[in-house]
Amino acid sequence: MKPPRFAYHDPRSLDEAVELLGRYGGEAKILAGGQSLIPLLNFRLARPAALIDINRIPGLDSLTLAGDRLEVGALVRHRQVERSELVRRHCPLLAEAMGWVGHPAIRQRGTLCGSLAHADPAAEIPAVWVALDGVVRARGPQGEREVPAAEFFLTYFTTTLEPTELLVGAGLPHLPPGAGWAFVEVARRHGDFALAAVAAVVELDAQGRIARARLGLAGVGPVPCRARGAEAFLAGREPGEATWKEAAALVEDEVEPDSDLHASSAYRRQLAGVLARRALDQAARRAVVPASGGGEGR
Ligand SMILES: Cc1cc2nc3c(=O)[nH]c(=O)nc-3n(C[C@H](O)[C@H](O)[C@H](O)COP(=O)(O)OP(=O)(O)OC[C@H]3O[C@@H](n4cnc5c(N)ncnc54)[C@H](O)[C@@H]3O)c2cc1C
Repeated sequence: MKPPRFAYHDPRSLDEAVELLGRYGGEAKILAGGQSLIPLLNFRLARPAALIDINRIPGLDSLTLAGDRLEVGALVRHRQVERSELVRRHCPLLAEAMGWVGHPAIRQRGTLCGSLAHADPAAEIPAVWVALDGVVRARGPQGEREVPAAEFFLTYFTTTLEPTELLVGAGLPHLPPGAGWAFVEVARRHGDFALAAVAAVVELDAQGRIARARLGLAGVGPVPCRARGAEAFLAGREPGEATWKEAAALVEDEVEPDSDLHASSAYRRQLAGVLARRALDQAARRAVVPASGGGEGR
């Protein structure tokens, strides 16, 4: 199908983009990679009065390490992140999640901030942002504000972004030294959105016990979420199958997936537990006991 008619603007500065968003008062959409927006237009599921194409605004494509955070500009493509040595070194969880985002052609064009703004609850990047307490940076008529990922996602495809705001970037704290990580997912076909996905980070103490665990989930509710009960249970425990089993049961209790044409609620719930077990096990195997002198996995 063809999209409905829309006005097209390609501003050359953020001020101009914000001014255009204000002018259309919520009736305009930002166009970044177009990998979600263009299909929505073609299926006529979105009918904006205007598209504001941010691709010609300079300075939005930088991927840098600033302090303890990876800073990702609004035009950083999935592929750039996937290929980045900086990301592999400082945020291997994100690097691992990238391979699950659609197909190479989609990753070539789609942006990380587009994925965050689109807020598909089954998308991988929002789950990573929630797992690692990332932030997004929004710019509107009043200037720039930073929003924690935990507060950004409201429900299916809905965020706290105002209609007069756009994302200019997003920040992701890098993993603490020695932390282990894993991103696991089940999708119906490779490249599809997740039926369920789990992002796990495990930090060990000098005795080899779990100092801190983080679990971010996608596909099991209206927003990406943390399994806080399971995380609290894991602190201070011995890593191992018995611990993972109990944590997985807690994850299953915590999530509230809806049924849809792809999977029932009960299936998604069980899948979340199975994937949490796998992810925790892999993350713990990659974690390093601090007193071991570093460098070696367990
Ligand atoms: C066949 C197919 C399979 C896919 N599989 C997956 C998958 O498995 N996992 C996954 O996560 N994604 C998947 N995608 C989506 C893809 O990853 C998109 O690239 C991503 O979701 C959105 O990024 P984009 O830059 O293309 O955003 P766009 O399509 O340009 O925009 C998406 C939405 O976000 C808004 N937006 C974009 N950038 C900004 C900004 N800076 N500020 C404010 N609003 C903004 C737009 O207005 C629009 O509402 C798939 C897409 C296709 C076509």
